[in-house]
Amino acid sequence: MNVLKFGGTSVKSAENIKKVISIILNHRQNGDVLGAVVLSAMSGVTNQLIEIGRMAATNNPDYLELIRGIEERHFNVIKSLIPIKEQSKVFATVRGTVNELEDLLRGVSLIRELSDRTLDLVMSFGERLSCLVISECLKSKGVPARFCDARQLIRTDAQFSMAEVEETATNQQIKDYFSTIGADLPIVTGFIGSTAQNETTTLGRGGSDYTASILGAALNADFIDIWTDVDGMMTADPRKVPNAFNIPTITYAEAMELSHFGAKVIYPPTLQPAFAKNIPIRILNTFNASHEGTVISRTADRRDFTITGISSIDDIVLVNIQGSGMIGVAGVSAKLFSTLAHYKISVILISQASSEHSICFAIEPRNADRVREILEAEFATEILHGHIDNISIERDLSIIATVGEGMKKSSGIAGKLFSVLGKNGVNIIAIAQGSSEINISVVINKNNLSKALNAMHNVFFQSEARILNLYLVGAGLIGRTLLQQIQAQYEYLRTEKSLRICLVGVSNTKKMLLDPKGIDLTNWQERLSSEGVTTSLPAFVDKLKDYNLPNSVFIDCTADKDIPLFYEPLLNANVSIVTPNKVANSGPYADYKRLQRATVRRGVKFLYETNVGAGLPIINTLQGLMTSGDRFLKIEAILSGTLSYIFNTFRPGVSFAEVVREAKAKGFTEPDPREDLSGMDVARKILILAREAGFELEPSDVTINNLLPESCIAAPSIPAFFEELERNNAFFENLLQEAENRNEKLRYVATFENGKVTIELRSVGFEHPFYSLSGADNIISFTTERYKERPLVIKGPGAGAEVTATGVFADVVSIGSYLA
Ligand code: ASP
Ligand code: MG
Repeated sequence: MNVLKFGGTSVKSAENIKKVISIILNHRQNGDVLGAVVLSAMSGVTNQLIEIGRMAATNNPDYLELIRGIEERHFNVIKSLIPIKEQSKVFATVRGTVNELEDLLRGVSLIRELSDRTLDLVMSFGERLSCLVISECLKSKGVPARFCDARQLIRTDAQFSMAEVEETATNQQIKDYFSTIGADLPIVTGFIGSTAQNETTTLGRGGSDYTASILGAALNADFIDIWTDVDGMMTADPRKVPNAFNIPTITYAEAMELSHFGAKVIYPPTLQPAFAKNIPIRILNTFNASHEGTVISRTADRRDFTITGISSIDDIVLVNIQGSGMIGVAGVSAKLFSTLAHYKISVILISQASSEHSICFAIEPRNADRVREILEAEFATEILHGHIDNISIERDLSIIATVGEGMKKSSGIAGKLFSVLGKNGVNIIAIAQGSSEINISVVINKNNLSKALNAMHNVFFQSEARILNLYLVGAGLIGRTLLQQIQAQYEYLRTEKSLRICLVGVSNTKKMLLDPKGIDLTNWQERLSSEGVTTSLPAFVDKLKDYNLPNSVFIDCTADKDIPLFYEPLLNANVSIVTPNKVANSGPYADYKRLQRATVRRGVKFLYETNVGAGLPIINTLQGLMTSGDRFLKIEAILSGTLSYIFNTFRPGVSFAEVVREAKAKGFTEPDPREDLSGMDVARKILILAREAGFELEPSDVTINNLLPESCIAAPSIPAFFEELERNNAFFENLLQEAENRNEKLRYVATFENGKVTIELRSVGFEHPFYSLSGADNIISFTTERYKERPLVIKGPGAGAEVTATGVFADVVSIGSYLA
């Protein structure tokens, strides 16, 4: 035999009630025995009744309108679900009940006072009306339904609004009642009961579940079915964690912990009567009736995850009471908590360090000021004598609880929890774990709640898919190529590397687009141009911080000088950065160092492999040598693809200007080729390498032996520059000729040795590793303690959108594996 309970949304409207009726009819067709059906008030009605009561008490006549609204909703159900000829009788009963409510409220408005006792009576009308109407609907469908006012069944004490059920009397009343009803199916008002003096009481908000459980236990039901509007209990609140999923089976204890912590699926006291009689509770969805939902019972099936669910209380305050006078003194906490109990302040979480210097506990924010007053009065003497400092209150906090029986026997869960919060920059303010080991609770700042929940859900439940949230600034050639590459690898990364990449923000010089739900990589360009707003980097960064998503990565694919100003604040907000932009690392040494420190402090990544040699593994190799304790003696390198190309192409019979023109036409140079020929870009790269090798160098420490004659540098325009270049052709021919005479080749080489950086045009002989360099390749040679005899050489294409994007991509993916 089953007891069914339908919640407020299930009985909200005629349309929904049809679904309830069909679930009941289905059971009957299947031959299931139904013991009772418990109903809530139509959703919203209880809240409205409270408001109506308050309005009446302040003599605000508008409450009458709200009553009409409630009456109307019930009339509509009658009109759509009951045959016309039976309607008038039901209208009359509803009207009669509503009149009773109006009389009561008239009384309230006359005495201008709404006691808890009266409010309970006012609230009782919600369930009474819904049961009245729905029992009639069922009757008209041939079900032998019978309206049952739970006030004749549920006996409680007189704590109005939160009455305690008196078990023995209640069970007796239930047995008596059920012995008189034969085969009828009682439609029972949830939520309400009455005292021995016949005063109406309520069991606490959401209490209809509890009514069903009390009935089920008293009747020894096989199942207590709680029909609601979600597919059972979930691993987290799906409104906050979109990846949350259903939990098919769960123990009473776990359900108790989770439901205490905000998972509003079931009213916590409900579990107790069912638990005592070992009756399984099933949470089912009226709007998705074929879903298996969640079964709550003594045992749960083996699961793939060590924890069962994550839950939260979104808004709490923490009270801290501390002082040297508390150390080793017995009775402080006894006094503290008995005081709180006396004033009926419920404590959500307690934490005391073993030094006994302080105790902190969490309470609901609405109690904060009162608690301070109460405690300051109670501990006045201790405060006066300085044994206890002032009572401090910290606001805008949330509690997150990880719950699961599986945590009992396994270690490392707290470690995993703290590490994921740490990596995402979520500060933990207090911690509590009960010795039952089925709940670890942490207190954090409220603005980190969503990030923390999602990051935790990700590591505990989706180890098969870690998520990286990307913000890309600079959608030029490199940025676009990067997104293409990511799109092409998306499935592979998801299935083979358990990495899900989500593009959250993208911007070019004109427009920017941010969407925390993700931007589809197949049509980001269309979305950027149709939905994008005018680019503003401060606004972009503000949004990024506002979303506060876990595992965020900012990618700067520009050569902009101002964007790096945001790096440090971003790192401090626990956002990793990947960039080919050299500006940040090649400015003043102090700036470089500050960023390095920020990454260490925050435990995030700042990766810039593509600062030097595009995708070639230069910086990674260098860092690897450094961390393994090698020492750098010399770095020699050709770091400009442009200059490489120019000197590989320059040969007798062709003018130097011609070669530079050709390089420009092929897109190998900057618009003004002097930027390449000046050696500035190479200077930045070698400076970065020297710094990575542990040397404290400033940009001014780089000596560039200028390659261009003064007149070329001074030329007022690009065409004028080319003219000057032609005019000076003999100078370049001469350089070339001298090199040829020695059987050497011209190379534009950057060298770091003995703490000095030089950049110059050199000619190298056959024996030199740089002699046989072709096309636009880069080459780097590291001479170290360990690579002394023969240096370590890295060579290959060091420029181009494709290889640069590849390097950026590799950096991004490496952040993903760091998160595991
Ligand atoms: N109607 C009551 C409330 O809204 C009880 C319930 O729905 O369970 O709290
Ligand atoms: Mg590189």
